[in-house]
Amino acid sequence: MSVFESFRDKIFRVADPDARVRVSREEINSFARSGNDFIRIPQGQEVIVREVFLLDNGAAAGRIFALAQAADGSALGWTSTRNLAGSFRNETLGLVKPGRGAGRFGPNAAWSRGKYLGQIELVKIVSTDLKIRHIALGTIDDYTTMSVAAAEAGIRLTVNSGFRSYPEQKFLWDGYQRKLPGFNLAAKPGISNHQSGIAFDLDVAGGPGNQTYDWLAMRGPDFGFFRTVNREFWHWECDPIRARQLASINTFKTSNVIV
Ligand SMILES: [Zn+2]
Repeated sequence: MSVFESFRDKIFRVADPDARVRVSREEINSFARSGNDFIRIPQGQEVIVREVFLLDNGAAAGRIFALAQAADGSALGWTSTRNLAGSFRNETLGLVKPGRGAGRFGPNAAWSRGKYLGQIELVKIVSTDLKIRHIALGTIDDYTTMSVAAAEAGIRLTVNSGFRSYPEQKFLWDGYQRKLPGFNLAAKPGISNHQSGIAFDLDVAGGPGNQTYDWLAMRGPDFGFFRTVNREFWHWECDPIRARQLASINTFKTSNVIV
């Protein structure tokens, strides 16, 4: 399995009863027809995804399309990944390398404790809300290993927020400072652990009592993940060395410091 393109070599099932086929990659907004009828992939059909296409650079929710093929090799066509069971949540869709000459405020610039660390490689991942988020390449093996173990226990982990660039953190900080609706606690740009790539906001609903949260609390440290912020049940950090140290003395303390 490719860690950058987790959808390869997997079988997906069409869940939507109205899974329409698009005309082509070039005409992705038009539905294919046979006479007066739309062409659909039957509900329950198992498909392999040969290619993925992110419309508008993948920034908007629900704009991910898959070139679906039947298991017998026959082509079915392009369709929205929303039509597939799970809607492609948690699939990785490729590597994002730093651009030539990218600076400290660029999309791949990592920061820690107010200092610019340099450029890092990122992996695109489909988030809980079907938008594309980024996670640091250095954490992908740990996250994937954990999410596969979770899936075996019937838990689907998904990411609400992973790596953030300086402008993204600034946007969240500004919203938090101005108490705008929909904005959570956010650290000042430059000091968020989302900017170094170790922080993951995971979908745990209300926290304790939620089955995903309870699984993470029990098993997360085995995979290098633990909580660090008192009021943020969703905020987990990936640091396998520290997780092992903390596990050995059986203490995972959170603090009031927002990171
Ligand atoms: Zn967070």
